[in-house]
Amino acid sequence: MIENYEIKAIDNIVCLPGTGILRAVIEIPEDISYLFPYINGHVSKARYLPKLPWIRFPFEGFSKKLKIKYDIACRPKQIIIGKFSSSEEAKEIIKEAIDFLNYIDSHKRDIEPNYKEWSPPSAIAILKYLPQSNCKKCGLQSCMAFAVKLSQNEVEPEKCPEITQENLENLKEIL
Ligand code: SF4
Repeated sequence: MIENYEIKAIDNIVCLPGTGILRAVIEIPEDISYLFPYINGHVSKARYLPKLPWIRFPFEGFSKKLKIKYDIACRPKQIIIGKFSSSEEAKEIIKEAIDFLNYIDSHKRDIEPNYKEWSPPSAIAILKYLPQSNCKKCGLQSCMAFAVKLSQNEVEPEKCPEITQENLENLKEIL
């Protein structure tokens, strides 16, 4: 049960500098990695890496349905949530996220844990959603280089200004 937490930062997402898109970094005193298999069993499209351990999943709210889909990544004693446009918005969603994690904790008996490890999509699979014009506007030499970075979770798909909305949505589904 998460009773105490500290918001360490609400700042720009590292791979989207200057965009005004924020993330929140929250630290918690307890190790919550025991929750990860239950989150993986409860949430569709979670990405779970048990060896780290680490889990990332889309979040649309707990007590209410949020207008947009946020992104939560958890390590044993750290939670990172994005993407916000203001710190007020961040604080509201942080509370929702903590309530959600505490719900998972208190309902572990009702949730079948899923220990399956997530496999990231290959750069080749990602490449088919990119324009493949090698225009370099993302700061990389080619679309393939961008696809490799995406597969390693080192860049956000929005960093490609040429991608179509449809392909952006498709990419977010597989990443
Ligand atoms: S900005 Fe997009 S289209 Fe241009 S090189 Fe980068 S990934 Fe390819």
